[in-house]
Amino acid sequence: MKLTKSQKRTLGRILLSAGLLILVSLLRWIGILPDVWYILLPCHLVAYLPVAWQVILKAARNVAHGQIFDENFLMLIATVGAFVIAEYPEAVFVMLFYQVGELFESIAVGKSRRSIAALMDIRPDEARVERNGEEVILSPDEVQIGDTLIVRPGEKIALDGIVLAGSSNLDTRSLTGEALPRSVGVGDEAISGCINISGLLRLRVIKPYGESTVAKILELVESSSLVKSKAENAVTKFAHWYTPLVVIGALLLAIIPSLITGEWQRWLHTALIFLVVSCPCALVISVPLSYFGGLGCASRHGILVKGANHLEALANADTVVFDKTGTLTRGSFEVVRITPVSGDEGTLLAVAASAEQASNHPIAESLKHAYSTRSAHPLPQADGIEELAGYGVRAVIDGSTVLVGSAKLMEREGISYIAEPDVGTAIYVCLNGAFLGSILISDRIKKNARETIDVLHACGVRRAVMLTGDREDAARAVARDLSLDGYAAELLPADKVERLEALLKDKNGTLVFVGDGVNDAPAMARADLGIAMGALGSDAAIEAADIVLMDDDLKKLSTAIDISRYTRRIVHQNIVFAIGIKVLFLFFSIFNMTNMWAATFADVGVAVLAILNAMRTLKK
Ligand code: ADP
Ligand code: MG
Repeated sequence: MKLTKSQKRTLGRILLSAGLLILVSLLRWIGILPDVWYILLPCHLVAYLPVAWQVILKAARNVAHGQIFDENFLMLIATVGAFVIAEYPEAVFVMLFYQVGELFESIAVGKSRRSIAALMDIRPDEARVERNGEEVILSPDEVQIGDTLIVRPGEKIALDGIVLAGSSNLDTRSLTGEALPRSVGVGDEAISGCINISGLLRLRVIKPYGESTVAKILELVESSSLVKSKAENAVTKFAHWYTPLVVIGALLLAIIPSLITGEWQRWLHTALIFLVVSCPCALVISVPLSYFGGLGCASRHGILVKGANHLEALANADTVVFDKTGTLTRGSFEVVRITPVSGDEGTLLAVAASAEQASNHPIAESLKHAYSTRSAHPLPQADGIEELAGYGVRAVIDGSTVLVGSAKLMEREGISYIAEPDVGTAIYVCLNGAFLGSILISDRIKKNARETIDVLHACGVRRAVMLTGDREDAARAVARDLSLDGYAAELLPADKVERLEALLKDKNGTLVFVGDGVNDAPAMARADLGIAMGALGSDAAIEAADIVLMDDDLKKLSTAIDISRYTRRIVHQNIVFAIGIKVLFLFFSIFNMTNMWAATFADVGVAVLAILNAMRTLKK
């Protein structure tokens, strides 16, 4: 274990103090130091100051800022009080142990911070760029769009780019948590933050560093620990009113019984024990540390959570609403049948693919893919392409208006079409108002979908519901195969929001929306918690969601819920444990059943155990 400079200094001060305390006690025991206050007080003060000095400074600084009551202040009055009633060794011991706890805390926080940084070891230091025929090494933010980036095997990709030459496998593990490498070849997009495993790659840079995936993710991870969970805010508020209350309680405990019984020494002592015991450090540190660990653990699994509040909300998931295409299903459609009204299949496919050129909807990608593999017809030039969210696309080809999309689109435009009778997603094509034909495509359910829905139900999610813009029969088949608790089909993006509103009215916890970021940003924004999957390479999804699953494996969803519940459990354990022990010792102190040594042990012990417990979240 490596300590930082300031931690080493603290350790040194603790050892010095402890040594001096032992020395003074020994001298006193063998009778060299006489038992008179004007000798003992200065001797113990010498042992006290190395550990107390920082605390005195901090307390003074806080008082200057008007924040009187914090744990430094508590410790200070407790120890000064002990000096006043001539409990010298106790005074030194309390401060000594308080510092041991603080040192431990600082090591724990440092450790979890470092491990998050290590988990996200994706920041590129330099980029190798070809300029004027020569290779130069630049800092990533000096590279411009259009530059040629050269990535040797073993190097990290510094900026997002398109492969110009070469082919290779990319290690995406530090981004997605997934061990399986991705293969890329000419024309594919290579995402920054990945490591080039095998071949030499030449990339054309398509985004400046600030907008590259790697920069976006780092920004997200770095800002996420600033967003506090409700539990953390509650603890801060709690400490705010709790500490003054404790001080008042201690004062009352010192004065009232003393006035009645006349035993000032005894009740002052009790009040001091009360002060030591009631220090809230165990809670103040362990709750944020647990969430911090939970966030770190999630990012190691390729799950980016934009704040502790979202992790907390996920643990209370009651209803999970899924988008269908690309979320529950793979979104890579196979063309089942092409039915042109007249002419050949290749032409119909070419018209459709041409109109879909600019769309990144899974259907568009599939039609383009089908065209490139099964049509020999040249791709016509399309202009004025317009995406009609939830319906399809409109484009102008050779001066004629082409519509490609759902039956709903045909109805909206008043076009008579021949409905596709079979199950699947039907795409209709029309040219200048005349129906050209239909393309039946079918999608497959993702491999972990069934399992994920079962896990959700098993861990207390009441409803798993699907909202889709696709046809009723395609939706029904998926809902039945996955045993969903409900579905609604043929919805436009605005209808999805409306359905969501209805579900929001009837829920006992968090309403989670899970989508792939295509056509579902409004729903994602309206839900209590938006989760985007397959976000690697999709900026829109990274922006809109509260939780980002880096790849599109549904298993990550159950992992995320798992981590959130585990973190919540640890936070609850710590709260119950810390408050329980405190209440017990407060009780002991009032009835004079404990002493300052035991109280100090209890206080620091609780903090140390709570911190150790909190750090388990990081390891999961
Ligand atoms: P989902 O809710 O399943 O993700 P969308 O809301 O994205 O579906 O789309 C709903 C329907 O609109 C699709 O099933 C399809 O029929 C049609 N559609 C949307 N975008 C396109 C497109 N680019 N090309 C063809 N059809 C589309
Ligand atoms: Mg979709």
